[in-house]
Amino acid sequence: MKREPGRTCLGCRRVRPKRELVRLVRGERGIVVADARARARGRGAYVCPDAPCLEQGLSRKRLAHAFRGACELAPELAAGVRLAASAATSPIDRTKSEEVTGTWPQR
Ligand SMILES: [Zn+2]
Repeated sequence: MKREPGRTCLGCRRVRPKRELVRLVRGERGIVVADARARARGRGAYVCPDAPCLEQGLSRKRLAHAFRGACELAPELAAGVRLAASAATSPIDRTKSEEVTGTWPQR
């Protein structure tokens, strides 16, 4: 059995395999966005893509603690996390924009 790296969810504080969590990164001006491809540089934080975890974890206080600095939530960050989670379980077009934003285009 392969050991996977565990990460702590910002919401429920449970350690879960990294692939079951969505990575968040703090970008320009301290704005926190979902990192769908888990490739953005810098310090990351992780949250389960579940409603209770998003509600609890996506607060400025929690994020500021995780990132050790003041944070702003990207607009529709929770929606961005959910989309990032669904993108992780289905094939996505990786040739599209590499830009990391809190909102993702709807198909
Ligand atoms: Zn959680």
